Amino acid sequence: MIDKELLEILACPVCKEPVKLTKDGKGLKCVKCGRIYPIRDGIPIMLVEEAYYEEEDKKTSSDKA
Ligand SMILES: [Zn+2]
Repeated sequence: MIDKELLEILACPVCKEPVKLTKDGKGLKCVKCGRIYPIRDGIPIMLVEEAYYEEEDKKTSSDKA
């Protein structure tokens, strides 16, 4: 698990917005762009190249028009 203090200093490198822990606790999700940064061995990987998008709800983000 991730420290709350650590969480507070982390930000999305793209938007510079805060991130929050995902429901499953496996990643940190940007509140703005929705990118999820993985947490590996307790270390958040705050790299755009490593980021992914949530798949469960909206598989393809914009086909529900
Ligand atoms: Zn972002």
